[in-house]
Amino acid sequence: EEIIIHTSSKDYPVFVGSGVIEELPAFIKERFPSVTTILIMTDQNVGERYLSLLMGILSNFNRTHFIVPNGESAKTFEVYHKCLTYCLEQKLDRKSLILSFGGGAVGDLSGFVAATFMRGIPFIQLPTTILAHDSAVGGKVAINHPLGKNMIGAFYQPEAVFYDLSFLSTLPQNERRSGFAEVIKHGLIHDQKFFDWLLENITDLHHLTTEQLGYMLEIGIRIKGAIVSEDEKEVGVRSYLNFGHTLGHAIEGEAGYGQITHGEAVMIGMLFALRLSKEILDLSFNMEPFESWLTKLGYRIEIPNELDPNRLVARMKQDKKSVGGEIQFVLLDRVGSPVLKKISDDFLLQQISAYKEEVR
Ligand code: NAD
Ligand code: ZN
Repeated sequence: EEIIIHTSSKDYPVFVGSGVIEELPAFIKERFPSVTTILIMTDQNVGERYLSLLMGILSNFNRTHFIVPNGESAKTFEVYHKCLTYCLEQKLDRKSLILSFGGGAVGDLSGFVAATFMRGIPFIQLPTTILAHDSAVGGKVAINHPLGKNMIGAFYQPEAVFYDLSFLSTLPQNERRSGFAEVIKHGLIHDQKFFDWLLENITDLHHLTTEQLGYMLEIGIRIKGAIVSEDEKEVGVRSYLNFGHTLGHAIEGEAGYGQITHGEAVMIGMLFALRLSKEILDLSFNMEPFESWLTKLGYRIEIPNELDPNRLVARMKQDKKSVGGEIQFVLLDRVGSPVLKKISDDFLLQQISAYKEEVR
């Protein structure tokens, strides 16, 4: 399946399917006939499993690789600096190409390296997680600052995305849940029918058929692509993609990164946003079957008991998406129709406490 992402800065293809990685050499030859060096950036988990395969596929090119720490620990100034040093040592130039081979963390880091090395060299995303159906599309690249996640970054679109589903087979269960939460998000904010399809058809994240996986990721990417096309730099509708993320990020941060995956925290954030939407916007949505489906899939639906509502609210206020200290929430007036609402601290505090009381 080939999906074209249109943005004001660039149009690029996303190839989704089992085995699409085999098409990469021909694509590079055609698009980058005078490519000098190909730098594969990956992390230890992915490198261990799949680097030699990718090196083999690219054996006709002058290629090299750089392995970064797993997950979020790759998105630091220190690792970023090491990457740039490696690029310089390997004499990468403006005709070089970076391949981002891994999950969202590798994608964000290596995309930022590509965006900034010599004022920008091309890169291609080779996502290996479910979550990366989201992160590899749309051109947000970033590293973290000790004072905030994703605070240092750029909008920088890849030349292409090759999303080979065969890499997903080794993904651990909590990482599956993390990525699947963003798939659900895409349904909730944009497509009621897709959401209903997920609810009906996905019963076990470990035994997804290739057809199911391909279908849900394709639709998720199309939705993300449609929103990004409309608003590449997030001045409007792109902020709807933050559904569930206001509280989700606060939970992630308060619990400590690595304690709960991004998507699992966002899932709780979405449940909270749904309740808030029912309360404020009269959203008609049946929580019970949704929550029991999520529980069966292994999600936590409660706000972890040890997290203090006051601290969660304080974190939400620090979020770079809060405007002038006011907390903005993406809510739904129906499934598929998001709206932005400012919520006062007091009301939020009361609602979080109520949620903690009711969902344990
Ligand atoms: P990740 O990149 O940290 O990967 C999760 C874990 O799975 C890591 O330990 C990784 O080594 C391992 N892994 C990856 N692929 C594997 C495979 N095929 N088999 C076995 N293990 C594998 O996490 P993620 O969930 O993919 O991405 C999260 C990151 O994405 C966060 O840093 C987040 O900020 C970012 N993000 C960015 C955007 C964006 O628009 N740029 C959107 C959402 C999230
Ligand atoms: Zn997210």
